[in-house]
Amino acid sequence: MAGEFELIDLIKARCAFARTDVRVGIGDDAAVLRVPAGHDLVASTDTLIGGVHFPVSTEPEDIGWKSLAVNLSDLAAMGATPAWAMLALTLPSADKDFVERFADGFAALASRHHVALVGGDTTAGPLAITVSVFGFVTPGRALLRSGARSGDLVCVTGTIGDAAAGLRFPFEGLFGTAASREACDALRERLDRPTPRVAAGIVLRGAASACIDVSDGLIADLGHVARSSGVGIELAAAALPASPALLQAFDAATRLALQASGGDDYELAFTLPPSRETAVLRDLAKVGCGATRIGRVVDGTGVRLLDANGSEIALPRRGWEHFA
Ligand code: ADP
Ligand code: MG
Repeated sequence: MAGEFELIDLIKARCAFARTDVRVGIGDDAAVLRVPAGHDLVASTDTLIGGVHFPVSTEPEDIGWKSLAVNLSDLAAMGATPAWAMLALTLPSADKDFVERFADGFAALASRHHVALVGGDTTAGPLAITVSVFGFVTPGRALLRSGARSGDLVCVTGTIGDAAAGLRFPFEGLFGTAASREACDALRERLDRPTPRVAAGIVLRGAASACIDVSDGLIADLGHVARSSGVGIELAAAALPASPALLQAFDAATRLALQASGGDDYELAFTLPPSRETAVLRDLAKVGCGATRIGRVVDGTGVRLLDANGSEIALPRRGWEHFA
């Protein structure tokens, strides 16, 4: 067991990426940070509670990665370039091994995006992790939920439904289903190590009319876009992109439920005028991010999921609910 300051030193040593815009980092009463001239600061915070936002069996490295990933995903959804993070850690005990492994997972993702950890807080209590992130956009260019217009297309990056599948069928539970071990691992990896779509968000900045990250479930999250924009959204069920692992592991009905209502994928769902589709999909491909057209923005309200005949598919009132 270690003391509070030993734990802070451990975290500092493992997350020691330098940025010249950090004038004062970990070690003083507060950080002093320099926002580059001519930029807006974009800020977001998310808390992860053990047993609520991740299974208690999750590896500490994965918890560290995910606690930053879900936050970077919010910056990505705004089209922001990430810069800084703060970490408020509440731990049941001063467990050095946990903190080292947590910090290694956090640092692995932070260094990938040149994010400096500039401060935080360390307290005793039930396991909870609050990360705050800060990034930059050129003024007026942040991607909002409110810009979708009737006639726009709706697209989503990557594939969806995997994280909910990884949660619903924990590793052991997949034996006896159609899923191979590789498929199980791939689904679980999507849950434990989400990839924030930072480069895609930067591509979409100035090109998409609205954007949101898929954290609560596709229908629920696009519902926020519809409400904020004052429009309706129609999605083609057959168009929802599924990974090879999801296709292998589940029948069509289960897949659709996971894709429509499962959360935690951290893909970006966005809208754009049809005239921009070709260029945007090409620019996304250049940063290694696939995207699929899944529907369109219409006059009206709410999100409707349509079958091949254009009839509405009734979803369970509450679809798959995470960590229930
Ligand atoms: P104070 O008592 O003035 O709030 P602390 O003792 O809480 O200061 O923190 C000392 C320094 O360590 C501060 O710079 C703080 O931001 C940083 N710090 C504390 N906990 C963490 C953490 N979990 N991750 C990163 N930095 C931390
Ligand atoms: Mg403090």
